Parts: sequence; C-alpha cells; structure tokens
Amino acid sequence: MLTCRDVGQLLQDYVEGALEAPVRQRLDEHLADCPGCLAFIKTYKHTIAISKDLRCKDIPPELQRKLRSFIKDKLGQPDA
Ligand SMILES: [Zn+2]
Repeated sequence: MLTCRDVGQLLQDYVEGALEAPVRQRLDEHLADCPGCLAFIKTYKHTIAISKDLRCKDIPPELQRKLRSFIKDKLGQPDA
C-alpha cells in the first residue's frame, strides 16, 4: 500500500501519465481511500491547467502557497 508520502513523490509522473500501469493502479487505490490525497491531486491538476491557460511557466504565487502548505500539512509528516 502506498503512503501519502509516496503519492507526493509520484504525483508529477501521475498527472503526466508517466507512471507504469501497476504503480498507477496502486496510486488510484490509495486515492480511493484517501480524500486528502485526492483533493491534493485535484488541486495540483487544476494548478497545471491554470498555468497552461495563462501560458506561463510559473505557478501563480497564491496557488504555490496553497500547494506548499498542503504538502507541508499533508505529506510532510512521517507516516502520515
Ligand atoms: Zn493519502
């Protein structure tokens, strides 16, 4: 079973569709059982979509702060 920390590390590959099927499946299983990570991935995808819309490489500072604090709260703790 993946931990929330694992999800954080796999997140980028996940949204880019770069994960191998078995890994992706395990991540999906974790998301089905972990509303926090699910919300995080949604926010992450949303952020990327917004960044693309703006045709800007940089994530808007406000969203960056949001993401950072989420990562800190949710994924920064051991065995979270
Ligand atoms: Zn989780």
